[in-house]
Amino acid sequence: MSPEEFRRFGHQLVDWIADYRARVPEFPVMAPPPPGRVHAQLPAAPPREGESWSAIWSDVEQIVLPGLTHWQHPRFFAFFPANSELASVLGDYLSTGLGVLGISWQACPALTELEEVVTDWMRQMIGLPASFRGVIQDTASTSTLIALLCARERATAFSMAGPGVQGQGQPLVIYASEQAHSSVRKAALLAGFGAQNLCWIETDGEFALRPDRLAASIEQDLAAGLRPCAVVATAGTTAATAFDPIGAIAALAVRHRLWLHVDAAMAGSAMILPECRPLWQGVELADSVVVNPHKWLGAAFDCSLYYVRDPEHLIRVMSTNPSYLRSAADGEAVNYRDWGLALGRRFRALKLWFLLREQGTARLEARLRRDLANAQWLAAEARQSPPWRVVAPVPLQTVCLRHEPDGLAGEALDRHTLGWVERLNRSGFAYLTPAVLGGRWMARFSIGALATEREDVAAAWEAARAAAQAQLQSTAQRPSS
Ligand code: PLP
Repeated sequence: MSPEEFRRFGHQLVDWIADYRARVPEFPVMAPPPPGRVHAQLPAAPPREGESWSAIWSDVEQIVLPGLTHWQHPRFFAFFPANSELASVLGDYLSTGLGVLGISWQACPALTELEEVVTDWMRQMIGLPASFRGVIQDTASTSTLIALLCARERATAFSMAGPGVQGQGQPLVIYASEQAHSSVRKAALLAGFGAQNLCWIETDGEFALRPDRLAASIEQDLAAGLRPCAVVATAGTTAATAFDPIGAIAALAVRHRLWLHVDAAMAGSAMILPECRPLWQGVELADSVVVNPHKWLGAAFDCSLYYVRDPEHLIRVMSTNPSYLRSAADGEAVNYRDWGLALGRRFRALKLWFLLREQGTARLEARLRRDLANAQWLAAEARQSPPWRVVAPVPLQTVCLRHEPDGLAGEALDRHTLGWVERLNRSGFAYLTPAVLGGRWMARFSIGALATEREDVAAAWEAARAAAQAQLQSTAQRPSS
């Protein structure tokens, strides 16, 4: 493609995206086609000769678009808000268009230095002490893996330089709440701790880790000859946005020399609001913290911030120094390849920089406060509407609900919950994801898409009530039909 063609098609593409954002409410939120429909419409092999832009574009409209679930839809309440502010989208384009790679500081100085600046801006915005230094990773899953690798190496005095985990006489144990995200388990397994050395700590009535149970497990493990190594505290769990008591967990971590990693992938964005910061009180004692601005804050995916208190330790675990990557600036400048797994790094800082500059902290704060208020409104509506029940506290923007009609309990209630949520999702009007909490299915309203206003929440709540009623009637009719 020549630069002139790029200019023409690029303008068309930008126009198309702008129109898409304007008309996204017209689409069914959840992709309607069954599995395999998109695949079946695409050729099995690549074209031998290049195709025209119009042919490619026609397939985007005819095949790709109908296969999308619309995350930017105002009635998208599934998973978590993965906002993509248009200013951030432009930052992502620019990164791709420049086509630069940050394999060392010298390979692209601006890439590294802008990353230093935006991670520090974000550190200030979320209220972490100045002793923390940040780096942009792709996802929280990667950040948590890096945290557990650093924990392993600190506990074993750099066993990776010798026998590795194979040489450890005492098994190392990782602790996290039973509500921790699946990425914690995955990271611990990949870091070689072994499933039998992962200890899932019971939670309290609000789904937060119980520090008394953590203390007891550590004592028990020590008595059994095991070696407590790290604890992952979650600030904003995936199912219910519960907050583990970081202060109490940190006290245990200090006493037993455990690495403390705080997973604030989703809820970290809320910490730009001073009134939310008590929720993660004690975070300043963490060894590492992950926050995903590519969730609620509005940075285009992928943009996960990993903060550490001791960058020297991180660098010692992650660094590589082959001759072909050495430069005269080594020692004077940061080489972010030594702060993570990947050598090649995209210019991700641009999309965060564009977002922060175009929105300013004031607009970001106002949007998040809008979403918090919408969640409180929905929770209040549900509390006043039995047999609906709000089944978890609502500290942020996620409301966990269950419709509990008389006579339905246990698995029958689960079938009812899954049935009405599926009915609502299939209608295309709104999209929620159910999850298991306290052993029973419930429906999550994860509020916070950019376009979601109070009327969208109200309309989805109305639709949820209608879906639950319709589900109840169809179940009642089933035995006699
Ligand atoms: N941690 C928590 C608490 C999450 O809610 C999620 C995603 O939902 C993750 C980690 C994983 O995030 P990522 O997709 O960036 O790996």
